[in-house]
Amino acid sequence: MTPDVVVAGAGAGGLACARALGALGLRVLVLDRQRTPASIAKGEILQPETVRILDSWGLLDALRATGARPVGRLAIRDPAGEPLLCLDYAGLPGAYRQILCADYGDLRRVLTDRLPPAARIRWGARVTGVLRDSDGRIGGVRFVADGAEQEIHAPLVVAADGMSSPLRRGAGIAVRRQEYPHGLVAFDVAGADVAEEVSAYRTGRGLCLVYPLPGGRCRLYAQVTPDEFRGRVDLGALRPAARRRAGDPPAGRGAAREPGPAPTARGLPAAQRAPGRAGARARRRGRPRGAPDGGAGRQQLPR
Ligand SMILES: Cc1cc2nc3c(=O)[nH]c(=O)nc-3n(C[C@H](O)[C@H](O)[C@H](O)COP(=O)(O)OP(=O)(O)OC[C@H]3O[C@@H](n4cnc5c(N)ncnc54)[C@H](O)[C@@H]3O)c2cc1C
Repeated sequence: MTPDVVVAGAGAGGLACARALGALGLRVLVLDRQRTPASIAKGEILQPETVRILDSWGLLDALRATGARPVGRLAIRDPAGEPLLCLDYAGLPGAYRQILCADYGDLRRVLTDRLPPAARIRWGARVTGVLRDSDGRIGGVRFVADGAEQEIHAPLVVAADGMSSPLRRGAGIAVRRQEYPHGLVAFDVAGADVAEEVSAYRTGRGLCLVYPLPGGRCRLYAQVTPDEFRGRVDLGALRPAARRRAGDPPAGRGAAREPGPAPTARGLPAAQRAPGRAGARARRRGRPRGAPDGGAGRQQLPR
């Protein structure tokens, strides 16, 4: 079958494209280099308009069933947890007045499982370049699957193969990328009872972002200097630094309950994990749970 559309990449962008074009009756083939879709710490905060679109596609209930967490507020706070700016989503017009915090893996799964019949995905197919017709127009892609280079023709080719997009490069489309002068380390903290809020703390070390995730977890992003974790192979030496970022609670201090399982520092090997626990004292003071307030919250979050 010659598809009408080839989409390179089965991330949220490629899958949404396949969903929308497939619903128009177009035959869509999505190619993704991953053999099995990986879960990555990104794309977790879904804004109300995204939620509305997912609902219009009949996907919202399935996403909610994964435990996606509704959140009504986005706040920028100082290290003590005092609000500098609060966006209360309840004040939005219309029916969609909440953020949904979901796993990116779950979102991809929900999109994948409910593609229209006219759209299909081929995993383990790495797109290597574009095919051009005699006029120079792109009319398909070259890809490698099962160890063999193959070609597929289609009148429309969509490059949804990520930020670096080899396909975009192959098509000769230039972008000017500007790197941030810092990096972010993502921690997946289990057993963290954080507020139903996306909290962005403006700390002495830069951004610290916290929000709830399915399964009683929370995401914690901590700003780091670009090379802070790069090329570190001595895991033992790295552990204190990782603990400082996530906060290493001194034994017994400010803890209302036992710490949950160790959080996973995404992008760091498992041995670089640091413990996490809910900011019970911060909650008692009326600040959002987990606030880096110098009490239990500070133990959890960097300053
Ligand atoms: C740390 C971080 C946090 C973020 N948080 C949020 C957030 O909270 N909310 C939000 O809305 N957005 C967020 N974003 C942005 C969001 O994740 C991206 O906009 C979104 O993932 C883009 O989707 P995509 O499908 O275009 O690309 P991707 O998700 O990168 O997917 C690209 C796909 O292409 C595949 N691919 C790559 N190369 C090839 C190839 N040669 N051949 C075939 N397949 C290939 C990959 O395997 C992958 O599956 C975040 C981004 C980052 C980095």
